[in-house]
Amino acid sequence: MSGSESEGKRKQKCVSCGINIAGTSAASFKCPQCGYRIYRCAKCRKQSKLYECPDCGFRGP
Ligand SMILES: [Zn+2]
Ligand SMILES: [Zn+2]
Repeated sequence: MSGSESEGKRKQKCVSCGINIAGTSAASFKCPQCGYRIYRCAKCRKQSKLYECPDCGFRGP
């Protein structure tokens, strides 16, 4: 991996635990407040962890 072309892409990571969820069965949805794309991994989804929007700080179940 030379890693020069992945710079432009936004990393998909779980907002709750921060793991990279690319290629997993993570859920993605939009922040109800600002529309920011939020990802949450299957594990955190099962535990019904709260998410916090990294953009506006909105918290939801
Ligand atoms: Zn997670
Ligand atoms: Zn938001």
